Amino acid sequence: MDNPFLALAAPGISGLHPYVPGKPIEELERELGLSHTIKLASNENPLGPSPMGAGAASGVIDGVNLYPDDAGFRLRNALSKRFGVAPEAITLGSGSSDVIDMVARAFLAPGRNAVFARHSFAMYPIYTQAQGAGSRVAAPFPPDHARMPYGHDPSTLLDAVNAETRVLFIANPNNPTGTWMTRDELTGLLDRLPSHVVVVLDEAYIEYVEEPAFPNGLDLLPHYPNLIVTRTFSKIYGLAGLRIGYGISAPDLAAVINRVRHPFNVNSAALAAAEAALNDTAHLTRSREVNRAGLRQLSEGLASMGLRCIPSMANFITVDIGRSGSDVFESLLRKGVIVRPVANYDMPHHLRVTVGREAENRRFLEALAEVLER
Ligand SMILES: *Cc1c(COP(=O)(O)O)cnc(C)c1O
Repeated sequence: MDNPFLALAAPGISGLHPYVPGKPIEELERELGLSHTIKLASNENPLGPSPMGAGAASGVIDGVNLYPDDAGFRLRNALSKRFGVAPEAITLGSGSSDVIDMVARAFLAPGRNAVFARHSFAMYPIYTQAQGAGSRVAAPFPPDHARMPYGHDPSTLLDAVNAETRVLFIANPNNPTGTWMTRDELTGLLDRLPSHVVVVLDEAYIEYVEEPAFPNGLDLLPHYPNLIVTRTFSKIYGLAGLRIGYGISAPDLAAVINRVRHPFNVNSAALAAAEAALNDTAHLTRSREVNRAGLRQLSEGLASMGLRCIPSMANFITVDIGRSGSDVFESLLRKGVIVRPVANYDMPHHLRVTVGREAENRRFLEALAEVLER
């Protein structure tokens, strides 16, 4: 039977496919009676949370009868000092997805549209559709592209923009492909965009990037008043469970975005943890090292099985396994290894694997070899 409330839902909601999160370890162990399972599915930090961040979060638990600081004064000041921007330029969110949603709620509506690339972050179409706005999906570079297979193509993104476009979403590096746009590609696109388009430059993985030619969105902000750069404490800082991220933009743009922000949208533990984690350089450095080594281990291991990976700048790698990703995902589950099938990203023959610690990566590679042999 059809759900009778679907007919009552706001425009866009009845056709909306909700986000499918990575499978939690506890759920898999409960369902299959397994133990010692590993999860390389949600791009979480395998080293755990920033110890300084986690310590600061525990330190404020006794005060949670009080509402958090709605302005996030201390964290916004810390970010302001760190990045050399005004505190008014910073929008705090319950995860950066909250900030991305605020942009959609502030600028999208029926009759308007958002532009983004195929195989990009799953929340862009969801937030867009929830506003009753249209999605214009740009073709990425083809799989045989010399420099950046599956990467964002600036010319198709620009072609997709029309008079009704209000938001352009770009993830750099992109999830689920790990691909990235160069500084020239990005600025070439931004220079040609009409001023009625707000650009969300989603830099959830930028702290992992070690490529010197990679464009830092914050350097572009002074030149592009319609740009908002979003970042998160969920990935390299290891604070995904606390939900905190932020956007940086011209203060005028931030003021409009903040009109739709929920009161107290960031909780006190998250505010304290983020402020402390910002200074946890030891955890940051170690996380980068483990990721660099793990990316190499995974790409070499997968290549030695004759599989083709998409070159990645992030903390995950996406590989073409030449058959149904969902089937291989299921077989890996039975071996206690959780990865991410990406059919919902239009990539039915790929799997996305988060970079883990050495032993976890090895266990994944061994399990995959066994599954593919059968
Ligand atoms: C993980 C991720 C985010 C942010 O997640 P939050 O936990 O909400 O901060 C944003 N964009 C992309 C592309 C991501 O992969």
